[in-house]
Amino acid sequence: MSYDKIEVPSSGSKITYDEETDELNVPDDPIVPIIYGDGIGSDVGPATQKVLDAAAEATGREFNWMRVYAGESAREKYDENLPQETVDAMSEYRVSIKGPLTTPVGAGFRSLNVALRKRLDLYANVRPTYFLEGIDEVSPVKRPQDMDMIMFRENTEDVYAGIEWEAGTEEVEEVRDFVEDEMGFDSTIHDGPVGIGIKPITEFGTKRLVREAIDYALENDDKNTVTLVHKGNIMKFTEGQFRDWGYEVAEEEYGDEVITEDTLWEERDGEQPEDAVVVNDRIADNMLQQMLTRTDEYDVLALPNLNGDYLSDSAGAQIGGLGIAPGANFGTGKVLAEPVHGSAPKYEGQDKVNPTAMILSGRLMLEYMGWDDAADLVRDAVEQAISAKTVTYDFHRQMEGGEKLATSEYAQVVVENIEDLA
Ligand code: NAP
Repeated sequence: MSYDKIEVPSSGSKITYDEETDELNVPDDPIVPIIYGDGIGSDVGPATQKVLDAAAEATGREFNWMRVYAGESAREKYDENLPQETVDAMSEYRVSIKGPLTTPVGAGFRSLNVALRKRLDLYANVRPTYFLEGIDEVSPVKRPQDMDMIMFRENTEDVYAGIEWEAGTEEVEEVRDFVEDEMGFDSTIHDGPVGIGIKPITEFGTKRLVREAIDYALENDDKNTVTLVHKGNIMKFTEGQFRDWGYEVAEEEYGDEVITEDTLWEERDGEQPEDAVVVNDRIADNMLQQMLTRTDEYDVLALPNLNGDYLSDSAGAQIGGLGIAPGANFGTGKVLAEPVHGSAPKYEGQDKVNPTAMILSGRLMLEYMGWDDAADLVRDAVEQAISAKTVTYDFHRQMEGGEKLATSEYAQVVVENIEDLA
């Protein structure tokens, strides 16, 4: 495919995907699209690139980065927020990484992050939260070492689907009339201006997400449970249905490899068979407190979109804050790595914020590419920087002593750690 404003690197090869075998073919010199992002993206993007370049070089490979544009950078180049060729390039090259993109609150354009995930059908937003040496110095909790959870957040539906109507429009009044007069919810909505949104949760969307979560637990020996997190007590036909379809997947598709919590207690007196994964469920508000009080009892969480957004920020706080919380969006033969945090506009261009979240998102991308040695180097190098207390302002603010570094200086420390470790 040819592109109008995207410069395809003159060297490097394309990552390809074989649908039949479900295999990604990754050359040693891949072309990888990158969006730096808005706000602090112009600091964390290049910092991440530098670290990933060092990890690739240390393992005998090379990235050929291809800048693609969304948000502010796209408005400058294309006069629109999310050009079609950005989506096309990410789809064609399969593995990409992005920094944060700003979304105005209330009025203005819809989230470009949500749009990208939907347009690329990246249905699972995977957000791991894990302890690294040195984090006990910055965490607000007593035992951050108990935190080792990975969240699988549904990425394409729920109230984030973007089906909503603005107060004062003809459309919203039509929807109100339909709901009250035709669907039997007479006088349920207060009189006066109203905004209305729709919350679709489908069997298809739920089941493919829960499968990803269960598969991950089965593939990783240290992950023994999958928890469906929902508000099904209140939103019975959406979040309750998410739970029920989640259990259906567990019961109907995995045989003896997966058992439910009920079976565990009713038939096995709480004794978990070796190698089996237990699927349970928790109501989201309870889960938020259990994440703090019984942290080590949870491994893999599967969540509808909104719950996943809230719970992953909160889990990130337990290991020191958004500066260290990574993520990646997975689809079929495609990944888009991105940190959990947003564009923090007040810190834009100050070379100040923590690039660890985007760097560790890069680690997820490296793992997906099968470059586990490079991924391990990135993890270890970050851990060394944190335990040596050479950190950015956020961690420095939360620890005794230590050296406060700029974003670029911190990235340089991580690069040097990679070179030493390799
Ligand atoms: P935010 O950008 O994540 O920032 C909230 C706070 O988190 C910051 O003020 C800062 O805390 C801390 N923080 C975030 N990133 C950090 C980093 N790299 N290093 C250190 N600390 C960091 O959230 P927001 O202010 O609610 O949202 C700003 C914009 O980002 C909005 O337009 C929102 O829509 C967008 N957003 C985008 C994404 C995405 O691109 N995926 C995700 C979330 C939000 P302190 O002030 O305490 O230092």
